[in-house]
Amino acid sequence: MSLSWIYTKDLKNFIGQKIIYKGWVWNKRSSGKIAFLQLRDGTGFVQGIAEKSTLGEDVFSDIKKIRNESSVIIEGEVQKDDRSPIGVEIIVKKIDILNQPEEDYPISNKEHGIDFLMENRHLWLRSRRQFHILAVRNEIIKAVREFYYNNNFTLIDTPIFTGSIGESAGNTFDIEYFDYGKVYLAQTGQLYLEAACMAHGKVFNLGPTFRAEKSKTRRHLIEFWMNEAEVAYYTHEDNMNLQENLISYIIEKVLERAKEHLIALDRDISKLEKIKAPFPRMTYTQAVEVLQKKGYSIEWGDDLGAEHETELASQYEKPLIVEKYPKNAKAFYMQPDPENPEVVLCDDMLAPEGYGEIIGASERIWEKEILLKRLEESKLPKEEYEWYLDLRKFGSVPHSGFGLGIERTVAWICGLNHIREAIPFARTLYRVYP
Ligand code: ATP
Ligand code: MG
Ligand code: MG
Ligand code: MG
Repeated sequence: MSLSWIYTKDLKNFIGQKIIYKGWVWNKRSSGKIAFLQLRDGTGFVQGIAEKSTLGEDVFSDIKKIRNESSVIIEGEVQKDDRSPIGVEIIVKKIDILNQPEEDYPISNKEHGIDFLMENRHLWLRSRRQFHILAVRNEIIKAVREFYYNNNFTLIDTPIFTGSIGESAGNTFDIEYFDYGKVYLAQTGQLYLEAACMAHGKVFNLGPTFRAEKSKTRRHLIEFWMNEAEVAYYTHEDNMNLQENLISYIIEKVLERAKEHLIALDRDISKLEKIKAPFPRMTYTQAVEVLQKKGYSIEWGDDLGAEHETELASQYEKPLIVEKYPKNAKAFYMQPDPENPEVVLCDDMLAPEGYGEIIGASERIWEKEILLKRLEESKLPKEEYEWYLDLRKFGSVPHSGFGLGIERTVAWICGLNHIREAIPFARTLYRVYP
């Protein structure tokens, strides 16, 4: 009878049985008669026990020479082991070493500098911590998609090359596009989602966005993934409720499906368990007053900086929604507040524990004349927005939406101190390799 290939996560169901295991040896300890192989296969970690008495002199001496990150196929028996976090280990009966590295694996248990690790990101991905982070990222993205499908949204994939600046001039990547001339890499898919919500009502996207951010911070990447949503007939209020529900859903699902990864990352789970809608809200004007009382030199009209966001959010256990910013601190497309046209119907959601803005949101301008005026004030070229203005000419309706930064969300939920670990291959100011 041929044996079945079993993944680590399923081994507990095969106690006492013979199986095939395909993976890598990430570490090893051995003595004269016995070797302990630390194995991983992409679904978890398990210990393999190799004994000279069962395997024979030759095989055992090959095992003793195994280097970290050799790839192996093992025939073995699954045995109960109460000391193991997964409750089992594998008794090795036969081993096939597919690839024995020619040299010692460059990443070890000792401390490495961040430049070295980023230079070796293709290998660093195999480390336990990185494995757990990207497993959580996977569950976050799965929950994001699920949330929208559960709520009858339609996925609309928005373009990467665009002829209209979506956010603001100053940090675009400009590309020569055949005879057309200059186009940009998308900073956002929002303008296109606005068009699509006039066709489908409730729409979302999930894709890469690009910003030539010249400052080095712990929160900014050059290429980052954004989930955006746009809903026809939604007001600013509807929009904030939608954001709270999305974030609560993500947290609920991650706690349900990825708790073991969060625990492995030493994340304080009790902090995440508190994240349930509704979230605290304050206006920008109130926020400025709070900051001034605390001694920050901020004037009404200034955008909030990272230190301000951290200070404000640190007063709460849940994300903080700050709404109604001055129009000049925000992008051109935001709807003025009818009660005070100096502010716009927007909100930023600030994550707790100093993770900063995770969502930027607003009701969008839906009257053509107001939009034209804002384009002029923002010194954006009107001719690039002919199609966008059409949305205000033909059956225009109030509509609202937002963008959620995926890596910011991963960094917060995993408790990372830098955003570069929240994406498989980070693009930063000085790095596009590997
Ligand atoms: P910030 O004020 O932090 O620079 P922003 O206001 O410029 O962010 P938005 O244009 O509102 O960002 O984009 C929506 C979301 O995308 C943000 O709330 C944030 O979560 C995320 N985001 C924005 N810029 C970056 C970046 N450079 N790297 C990673 N995520 C980003
Ligand atoms: Mg920015
Ligand atoms: Mg901002
Ligand atoms: Mg923003």
